[in-house]
Amino acid sequence: MATTDATVTDTEMTEKIHQGLAARELLPGEHAVDAGYVTAAHIVTARDEHGVDLLGPVGPDTCHANHPGEHFAQSAFTIDWERRQVTCPQGATSISWSDQRKASGTPLARIHFAVTDCAACPLRAKCTTATNGKWGRSLTLLPREQQEVLAQRREEQQTEEWKKRYDIRAGVEGTISQAVRRTGIRHTRCIGLAKTHLGNVLAATAINIIRFDAWFTETPLGQTRTSHLARLELAA
Ligand code: SF4
Repeated sequence: MATTDATVTDTEMTEKIHQGLAARELLPGEHAVDAGYVTAAHIVTARDEHGVDLLGPVGPDTCHANHPGEHFAQSAFTIDWERRQVTCPQGATSISWSDQRKASGTPLARIHFAVTDCAACPLRAKCTTATNGKWGRSLTLLPREQQEVLAQRREEQQTEEWKKRYDIRAGVEGTISQAVRRTGIRHTRCIGLAKTHLGNVLAATAINIIRFDAWFTETPLGQTRTSHLARLELAA
């Protein structure tokens, strides 16, 4: 159980949660999380440093003018990591590859195509709106290992097999929902992080007792809630 200020993002907590679990020798082989906890860097770190398969969806492959099926996202380009060069769908090769860092320190590579290639390209409308006069299409790539993990996850998360595997996350969402409804965990009754954390631990303990009681008394599982709108559709 980790309690943070509301300003702390989910992505900041993934590694801390794994470190906490590792310290107590409670790391799982697979950790099903929602999209907020997953980046390519997290997948790689969880795998390499903790032996954890971080199971959660990554963001889609988009480009500046993202009209599905009509524009070239990153997956349309072929990356040659050894030669530090990218080939576009039209067959042009990039003319610039520079290693940079985000303000957060995250390393990345900025790739540019020649403005002359892109200006004369019949596929330009599907690819770039660059008007800076210096470069044509640009790409931003993560470090190779992360970029490859990202591409792999984007592909596998489209498959029925992966979606079925990820269904297990519904159990966690159900637990969160139960904690919110039964214990009011979204609002702290205390002032200060330490007391709020204690309240969270007590809420988690209460949920365990409620679930044990439900199991012991063979209380049937609750039904999935159907919204008013869905009920109207069913009645029609
Ligand atoms: S616009 Fe430039 S990068 Fe895009 S397909 Fe054409 S030549 Fe390649």
